[in-house]
Amino acid sequence: ATPAGITGSAPGGTDPATDVRPAAVEIHGAHKWFGPHHVLAGVDLTVRPGQVAVVLGPSGSGKSTLLRSINHLEKLDHGYVSVNGELVGVRRHGERLKELSERAILRQRGGIGFVFQNFNLFPHLTAAENVAAAPVATRRATRSESRARAAELLARVGLGDKADAYPRQLSGGQQQRVAIARALALRPGVILFDEPTSALDPELVGEVLGVIEDLASTGTTLIVVTHEIGFARKVADLVVFLDDGVVVEQGTPAEVIDHPRHPRTREFLAKVL
Ligand code: ADP
Ligand code: MG
Repeated sequence: ATPAGITGSAPGGTDPATDVRPAAVEIHGAHKWFGPHHVLAGVDLTVRPGQVAVVLGPSGSGKSTLLRSINHLEKLDHGYVSVNGELVGVRRHGERLKELSERAILRQRGGIGFVFQNFNLFPHLTAAENVAAAPVATRRATRSESRARAAELLARVGLGDKADAYPRQLSGGQQQRVAIARALALRPGVILFDEPTSALDPELVGEVLGVIEDLASTGTTLIVVTHEIGFARKVADLVVFLDDGVVVEQGTPAEVIDHPRHPRTREFLAKVL
């Protein structure tokens, strides 16, 4: 039998069955409570290097909490997360089995890009300054190196001419593309997207999805929470349907989107399709 989550094929024809690299992201037995509310109730997820995983699920199902726990923005109460074979945290019933130093957390975060629904750009910095800020702050690059790289990244997301614009001078789609360029600045192995197009006017959704699709072809591992089913069908290697804090069903787009087995998946898809 195929282990859970190891479906679809990574770019470059890598056969998951013989791929000995550690998973890009592995989550095992993840539990999270907010007070009495059991928001993650035993999530297992394996995303192989270079895969694009799309996470679907109704509002409140735990999608953001799951993404945030990969990036240390949320601490699991139980279970473990590893990124590129390196543990992010291990807990058993709230007891810490391994605690990372603040330094290790910052280093790991540098390897994980995060793109938020509401862009979260610094309003007082230009597009180029937003992109260059993290490499300078983390001393991964000199000011002039990161400025040159910011220009390159802005060109890559189609905003070569907007380097000096402030966020308020940009459309939502342009701001989100700056946020993607910023996420790329530390050359992350994994990029997490939390509903990257939900705050956009419909006519701006395509330009942002196009940039994410381009990234997908470069071998970066992507985990994308979205309701854009067309995007999932076209770009995802792995589709995960989360409901009430559990993975109800996962597999290829052909399996989960076109031939969902679980009634809850069918009901959800009927609403968003
Ligand atoms: P989704 O992203 O799928 O909409 P979330 O992960 O944001 O779901 O939230 C799952 C549930 O956890 C929701 O019921 C939400 O209200 C609750 N929740 C999320 N963050 C917090 C928090 N910091 N404190 C209390 N409850 C929270
Ligand atoms: Mg959310």
